[in-house]
Amino acid sequence: MKCKVCRDAAVIDIRRHNANFCEEHFIRYCQQQVLRAIHDYDMLEPDDRVLVAVSGGKDSLAIWDILLDNGWKADGVYVGLGIGTYSDTSLEMTERYARSREVELITVDLRAEHGFDVPTASAETGRVPCSACGISKRHLFDSTAVSRGYDAVITGHNLDDEAAVLFGNVMSWQTDYLGRQRPMLPARDGFPKKAKPLMRLTERETAAYCVLRGIEYQIDECPMAVGNKHLAYKAALNDLDVESPGSKAAFYLGFLQRAVDRFEGDSGRGDLGQCARCGAPTDAAVCAFCRIVQRTEGAAAAPVEVVIKRYAGGRRRP
Ligand code: SF4
Ligand SMILES: [Zn+2]
Ligand SMILES: [Zn+2]
Repeated sequence: MKCKVCRDAAVIDIRRHNANFCEEHFIRYCQQQVLRAIHDYDMLEPDDRVLVAVSGGKDSLAIWDILLDNGWKADGVYVGLGIGTYSDTSLEMTERYARSREVELITVDLRAEHGFDVPTASAETGRVPCSACGISKRHLFDSTAVSRGYDAVITGHNLDDEAAVLFGNVMSWQTDYLGRQRPMLPARDGFPKKAKPLMRLTERETAAYCVLRGIEYQIDECPMAVGNKHLAYKAALNDLDVESPGSKAAFYLGFLQRAVDRFEGDSGRGDLGQCARCGAPTDAAVCAFCRIVQRTEGAAAAPVEVVIKRYAGGRRRP
């Protein structure tokens, strides 16, 4: 197996591009895919100050690394979710990377600063853990970026993530979500600009990028992913991609090129007011994050294992 560019021994094959790469040219390939996404979707200006939402996993550390190497002033924000040892290791990996690059890392701890953690939020609100977690992370990434004057929030969503979300939205014909499923959303109504520059790279590629660059990352899956249908969608798309390499990328990138505009009218971007409690933009009197804060006030911390059991098997147990 030889590198497509230099004919040296290759370290990875990328079947959808019918290409193999040596270490140096694979790193360059990853960087080029990110720069192409940034260019094609007008994600960032060269002098934008960006805030990378970092989880300690391969994707967010890879995109932080690529942005830093390409000259962006990129700081990180980490949200402590309170998911047992998984969160402890994730924070350790994130801090280690930030130290190695001598860059700023902002940490927000849900329990210490907002009085709850993801297991407790799930137990008290009846939401699946990923729903409570997603609301909390989005709120804290956005509010941190706005209050500290960053130009954009960068998330580590990769091609597998986006294709799986698209698959789920199509399966249930969530046309409002389809109209919003873009890799760049401009700033509006108090929300910062948000971009997903890893949209052209698969998670196999971001993992390989981290290994080759010597970046240590959290390799364990989050134990609270139970009840999250996206894992099943990812597995189904991966099976298809084995039979027909490139079908996953064609599904997602083809949607962006040929279909997303057709759902724009359904995207439900109505007028927003301000949350009565925190001032964040919302279409309700109190934003979803503050409703979790209110629902969990004074609640005993729910053990991780208990919440996992409740959702194990993809079904909520009474
Ligand atoms: S898997 Fe779900 S609960 Fe775990 S970090 Fe991701 S969104 Fe949060
Ligand atoms: Zn090469
Ligand atoms: Zn609020």
